[in-house]
Amino acid sequence: MDANDARFAHMLHLASKRTPDNAAFSPPIVNTSIYALPPDPSGIYQYARWGNPTWTAVEEALGVLEDAEVITFPSGMAAIAAVFYALLKPGDRVLLPADGYYTTRICADKYLAPMGVEVETVATAQLGERDLAGYRLVMIETPSNPALDLADIAAACARVRAAGGISVVDNTTMTPLGQRPLDLGADMVVSADTKALNGHSDVLFGHVAARNADLIGGVRDWRRIVGAIPGPFESWLGHRGLETLEVRFARMCASAQAIAGRLAAHKAVRAVSYPGLPSHPQHALAQRQMTSGGALIGVTLVDKAAAERFIAACALLRPATGFGGVHSSAERRARWGDQVAEGFIRLSVGCEPTEVLWQAIEQALSA
Ligand SMILES: *Cc1c(COP(=O)(O)O)cnc(C)c1O
Repeated sequence: MDANDARFAHMLHLASKRTPDNAAFSPPIVNTSIYALPPDPSGIYQYARWGNPTWTAVEEALGVLEDAEVITFPSGMAAIAAVFYALLKPGDRVLLPADGYYTTRICADKYLAPMGVEVETVATAQLGERDLAGYRLVMIETPSNPALDLADIAAACARVRAAGGISVVDNTTMTPLGQRPLDLGADMVVSADTKALNGHSDVLFGHVAARNADLIGGVRDWRRIVGAIPGPFESWLGHRGLETLEVRFARMCASAQAIAGRLAAHKAVRAVSYPGLPSHPQHALAQRQMTSGGALIGVTLVDKAAAERFIAACALLRPATGFGGVHSSAERRARWGDQVAEGFIRLSVGCEPTEVLWQAIEQALSA
């Protein structure tokens, strides 16, 4: 039996054990700002900036999947910022992926650098050759976004640890079912649960996971003090989305694998980047550290016009930024200034039945 499967099944049955009579399958949405307190208050339910039972429900569920303590946030960026601000002080050096989530770099340049944190970047595919000594924090995002280059998590995290730094993996694209950075030696995981983990494109959400009590305690203190807290309803939505993650992600990744191979063989396609294809330069690494090739495919068409035409012509692709939802979507990334070809499209494969989706893609490519 697969350990991921066992964890997921266990996670599904946590919620039904929550209410006093074990009757409710879904966690309650607890809207409260204050709690009735005993003369000597203790625990987290003292004031609602400290704790909320709906957060507890989703954090326990995510904790089972991560096999770690989890703190949730109202967005992926709030989770990433919490790690930065809980860990970094003036004089520290941080290393960020040059080809990772853009707003992470903006956050560091605009707010950390002026406070005396030295911010450096490295391309994900080059992380293996980079000297990692002297960094307080090294952030890894693999597959990178949008080019889908990989970094060897186990090797990089071992080097960061040997040099006395802290490794943080942004695991948004793969989710804890697709890639397990903490098992591979990472100190912390951050995730934009806005994407595949929630999967329904109806809420922003995020989390931080760590097995080291000091590291996760620092993040919990940050949230309690600055108030970057998720709302109870958003937490409930995040939990509801999470409960179908396993079936959604399995469909999405299986479809992506099939469609990536067919795209690579299509005459209208210049290039395909997909970690699950043997043509990917780091395919062997993908097989070691990912449970699948993921749900994102990099597709390069001839030029900007061809890419825009394809997206507009495909009835089952909606042009959107963001990915990981049940509805397939696509985006020409050069429109955001990403260092990719003008005809490069990031295709996010959703939960549509595979052959129907492929037929729509093939028709749009031939149009
Ligand atoms: C979307 C995303 C984020 C930010 O998440 P938000 O919920 O939009 O704040 C961070 N990292 C990656 C890899 C993302 O894709």
